[in-house]
Amino acid sequence: QASGTSPFRFDNSYARLPANFYARVEPTPVAEPWLIKLNRTLAEELQLDIAALERDGAAIFSGSKVPEGAEPLAMAYAGHQFGTFVPQLGDGRAILLGEVIDRNGRRRDIQLKGSGQTPYSRRGDGRAALGPVLREYIVSEAMHALGVPTTRALAATVTGQPVYREQILPGAVFTRVAASHIRVGTFQFFAARGDMESVKTLADYVIDRHYPELKDDEKPYPSLFKAVAARQAALVARWLHIGFIHGVMNTDNMTISGETIDFGPCAFMDTYDPKKVFSSIDQFGRYAYANQPAIGQWNLARLAETLVPLFDPVADRAVNLANDVLTEYGSIFQNHWLDGMRRKIGLSMAEDGDLELVQSLLTLMHKGNADFTLTFRRLAASAEDAKADAQLLSLFGNPEALAPWLTDWRRRLERESQQPAERAQTMRAVNPAFIPRNHRVEQAIEAAIEGADFSLFEALLDVTAKPYDAQPQSASYAEPPKPGEEVLQTFCGT
Ligand code: AMP
Ligand code: MG
Ligand code: MG
Repeated sequence: QASGTSPFRFDNSYARLPANFYARVEPTPVAEPWLIKLNRTLAEELQLDIAALERDGAAIFSGSKVPEGAEPLAMAYAGHQFGTFVPQLGDGRAILLGEVIDRNGRRRDIQLKGSGQTPYSRRGDGRAALGPVLREYIVSEAMHALGVPTTRALAATVTGQPVYREQILPGAVFTRVAASHIRVGTFQFFAARGDMESVKTLADYVIDRHYPELKDDEKPYPSLFKAVAARQAALVARWLHIGFIHGVMNTDNMTISGETIDFGPCAFMDTYDPKKVFSSIDQFGRYAYANQPAIGQWNLARLAETLVPLFDPVADRAVNLANDVLTEYGSIFQNHWLDGMRRKIGLSMAEDGDLELVQSLLTLMHKGNADFTLTFRRLAASAEDAKADAQLLSLFGNPEALAPWLTDWRRRLERESQQPAERAQTMRAVNPAFIPRNHRVEQAIEAAIEGADFSLFEALLDVTAKPYDAQPQSASYAEPPKPGEEVLQTFCGT
């Protein structure tokens, strides 16, 4: 299967780790691979040979042809799924081809998702359906454009083979790029087996790859935990700022690098509701919008459990170290969140009372069923000119309730030094006009499945690539769903 010339200059490090970290397995070739999309900008960043990918992309990104230098493997991991520990999960339908060094000297994983069974497939078919592949492509690229740390989409292919779910669906393969695919669950895999030597090997590898500044740290493992917690706190704050609901924050879906991963039943909110859940399998709202910071902390506690033996030989001291970090996570999150919310409402200085101002706006948005994204975007116009208030108020079911808040807000703005036009511009740079709204994602998927029409997919990618630009020609993409268009549930993409 190996080809003569490779579009990738692989430099694989995970494959050098001990054999119990993964299972070597080749992707399964497919019947009629066809390349839906190649992310050329990302391919250039990864220093790939684009001409070779245009020639061989369908074969390579469908898993039908393994490029030279790849060392395909499925990673072992465990995880808490909705609070229940599963000691063995692993890449059941994903295969790491290898790693490349990007233009900025950063090591990046190239992984196929949906490329056939692996030793970790359990009862699964190792395949992915077209819908979830397009969803992950759109949402991960949108997250990147919004400035949120995330795995990326390098390519999508259709396989020409059906997958059997509740319906028969077209099969597809997604090519994912990540800083790495190491998860909280990767640590749990070894800890659950009492294999502390492997936990230590993994921790050292992670420090080397993601936190090199800790290499000479006096207490590298507590510092690693602290660093992971800080990145997670910042990440979840970013999600909240843009109305993103991950949907399935199991410990196997939380990276150690601090990137968002695994866009299954994820969604952006339209109308603001802190309890909002889209995922059909999240019956109890464990992963609801406003629960995400607490779940991040819960997941970090599970990570701590795997690392405490490395923290300190005295158990009490080790546990105290872990608890201090978990407490600190709360305040780091809160600071990031409030900083971002201040910027969203146009405040460049910090004052006591800002938290209350932000919270009372959110309460009004909730009561008024206001669209999350549009409220903040239109607030930018109101910051420039009160004549724009009507547009903002029209988003609220009870517009008169917002009037006193606007007065308080304007009084607060008077204590700022920024000029109105400049403020509006700053606000537009943090409050997107365009997010991949659920109904748009669903429409793009439906057109692709029903009519092999990828034009809506392409159009949605284009508009969400510049989320902070006005793009008047695409104004309809900024609009919330019309009655009947609203997506009430998303499904765990398999
Ligand atoms: P996820 O819900 O995508 O985070 O996946 C949870 C676990 O189920 C992981 O170990 C996946 O590899 C595995 N999995 C999900 N879908 C499939 C499938 N179609 N075939 C095999 N394994 C799967
Ligand atoms: Mg997963
Ligand atoms: Mg998934």
